[in-house]
Amino acid sequence: MSFKTTFYRIANPINKRFSFERFSQKLPFQDLILVYHLVSDADLKHAKHLFPYRSEKQFERDLDFLLKHFDFIDWETFLRNKIEKVKTKKPTILLTFDDGYSEFYDIIVPILKRKGIFAINFINPKFIDNKEMMWRNKASLIVSEIIDNELLQNKISKFQDFGSDLKTNINSILKINFKNQNQLDDIANHLEIDFNDYLKKNPVYLTTEQLINLKNDGFGISSHGWNHPLYNQLSLTEQLENTQKSLDYMKENQLSNDSFAFPFTDYLIDNQFFDNVFNENPKLKFTFGSAGLKLDSYPKNLQRIPIETGNYSAEEILKNEILYYQLLRKINKNKIIRS
Ligand SMILES: [Zn+2]
Repeated sequence: MSFKTTFYRIANPINKRFSFERFSQKLPFQDLILVYHLVSDADLKHAKHLFPYRSEKQFERDLDFLLKHFDFIDWETFLRNKIEKVKTKKPTILLTFDDGYSEFYDIIVPILKRKGIFAINFINPKFIDNKEMMWRNKASLIVSEIIDNELLQNKISKFQDFGSDLKTNINSILKINFKNQNQLDDIANHLEIDFNDYLKKNPVYLTTEQLINLKNDGFGISSHGWNHPLYNQLSLTEQLENTQKSLDYMKENQLSNDSFAFPFTDYLIDNQFFDNVFNENPKLKFTFGSAGLKLDSYPKNLQRIPIETGNYSAEEILKNEILYYQLLRKINKNKIIRS
């Protein structure tokens, strides 16, 4: 368990006793950036083992809480505030979503429209139109199918390096990484799980047509890398290629090429990458990580707060993050230093 997870566990029951105002006074920045993946009431086999997601009711509860304490702003306002260093009356939130899941169109945007909230979705062009399943979704789907089906549990126990312990097998499937993602296809073949068939029956990602509609409705569609790699597993050349391919797609499809959000994490990404990508793309204004409330030594790389952590509400997460930041500041660890 990470130090932060432990911190959340200890701090959360104590924080509950205090109102949010006590925490918001200590907000280190006036502009927060939040990141969700998706919202759904359904049991999503391709996502449920990757991150906890909100039900529609929980999501609305988050938004109603946030609306009370923050002003949601759109991308243009965000940029203007940053560049002109505008001091806002209320702290602001830029709302973002990652991975381009279809729920953004079907469930999230109708709620956001009703409440007058803008959001950006950071997408992986490779999976748009459900042409292929993203490797992490493959892992979650395989694990879901195994858990639901004893026959598959038997089958996997006899495959390659797998053994008789279900939990160990599940963990090793969820640990398969970007570079070894072919293993997921091998396992699926062995278990006769058909990803394309699943995608046909359950469109997981947004379609080109939906992207156009979202753009016309004023929502932001921006880049999350071509095919959702873990960047620190790639060479610098591969990092730049993956990023450029997704930014070029944005430009070709008249979507936004002025921002980019790292898939997973920007951990261990060095200045050379940022210098290169900003030089090659003069339109690019900011890149985004998701390390929570934190400063970054690269001024154009901004950290977002993952807001679907554990089973905590947005209020609980923000309280924990504010407190955690104070602790990091005391030990001089509130800034990510890049080499
Ligand atoms: Zn992602």
